[in-house]
Amino acid sequence: MNVLKGKKAVYYTLGCKLNFAETSTIEQQMKVAGVETISKGGVADICIVNTCSVTEVADSKSRQAISRLRRRHPGAMMVVTGCYRPPLTPPSRGENYLFVDGKQKGDIPKLIEAAMRTFSNSSLREEDRVSLSLKDGGGVSFVPACACGERTRYFLKVQDGCDYFCTYCTIPYARGRSRNGSIASLVKQAEEAAGQGGKEIVLTGVNIGDFGKTTGEKFIDLLRALDKVEGIERYRISSIEPNLLTEEIIRFCAESRAFMPHFHIPLQSGSDEVLRLMHRRYDTKFFAGKIEEVRRYIPDAFIGVDVIVGMRGETDELFSQARAFMEALPVSQYHVFSYSERPGTKALEIPGIVSPEKKHERSQQILSLSKEKLRTHYNIYIGQTRPVMLEHSREVGVFHGFTDNYIRVEINSKFKINSFRAFDNTIVNVRLGGWNEKGDALAGDLIIEN
Ligand code: SF4
Repeated sequence: MNVLKGKKAVYYTLGCKLNFAETSTIEQQMKVAGVETISKGGVADICIVNTCSVTEVADSKSRQAISRLRRRHPGAMMVVTGCYRPPLTPPSRGENYLFVDGKQKGDIPKLIEAAMRTFSNSSLREEDRVSLSLKDGGGVSFVPACACGERTRYFLKVQDGCDYFCTYCTIPYARGRSRNGSIASLVKQAEEAAGQGGKEIVLTGVNIGDFGKTTGEKFIDLLRALDKVEGIERYRISSIEPNLLTEEIIRFCAESRAFMPHFHIPLQSGSDEVLRLMHRRYDTKFFAGKIEEVRRYIPDAFIGVDVIVGMRGETDELFSQARAFMEALPVSQYHVFSYSERPGTKALEIPGIVSPEKKHERSQQILSLSKEKLRTHYNIYIGQTRPVMLEHSREVGVFHGFTDNYIRVEINSKFKINSFRAFDNTIVNVRLGGWNEKGDALAGDLIIEN
């Protein structure tokens, strides 16, 4: 008998796009198993939390989400998966817990079913009402995920896990070794997204340039195959390590039909000494050369760059060097993260802790540098016409979207549009005007072609 049939579930996701795509897949699998998703205000039999542990703040948010769901859905089975593993405290009376290791997300319905059968034994002691899916070293497979949820664009997971072991990062421990779906299976998912009306797909993964570890295929061949999928008009590559972003990939994106002039490349530090402490696989000279290569082939590309400030060992002098390097780089935006001490990482052995005040101060400096970079990128295109994909609007009478090279555009209803809904998920040509009032987008004029 299917013990899941007729049950009701609620889902909560923290962290990255990958987690969101995976939760959406879990929800689909649960639906196939006969589990309904509750509507707002409903009470669930099963709560599934997909956690994140990238920083201490993420840990704390994951803990809070679990407590909130326990309060709102008393008696429900709590299923916790993802990168954060909460401390194993005995459940309160009547509670059942299932901790699913992040590497086994693909088996959640099966694991819940098995746990439900165990928990249905009325003679079970309270302390035994916690079940761990984890069998260390057990099956680590690639769990496919492609979802758009409430968003306009789709997120297609092409790769999972990481073999790099940067000293500050817990992801290789939480998600396991690098693995991927086959090109044929990913093309099929992209075709399905196109069949559902999807026009833009973001390729996601943990270290996507490392694609091919399990299938022996190449990332560039995946891009070539996806570019041929009819109906998908835009692809973006979510984030790719600089040493894996080859000249061949950049050249392909420059000439491709649907890959957008948009790259997201983690730098992490602009100091060679800090990069060495982080065990990153390049130095600043290599990184600067990579940005120069992108600009040579795709001058109008948006280049977003991740940076961590306050890493152990980052002295005032090293930070100043890093800042000067970042200032000179012709990139479009910095995404700034403060270094967070993660249990079990090699970084904890590095001397030279940076105080929280200094981390904050450094983060503010890079944020303000990032604002300047973003303004410079946007200002170049004022007065030009670029294609914009319009997205679900949260404000009445206003539409938002992004150009091919990732400029956020705002269009007001004063421009001859009767029904904004009709334009949702549509790519239109927009003349880019000046900055909007909030200063977070360029105001755009729709070019209506007769
Ligand atoms: S490349 Fe480094 S930072 Fe990125 S997931 Fe792998 S170990 Fe973590």
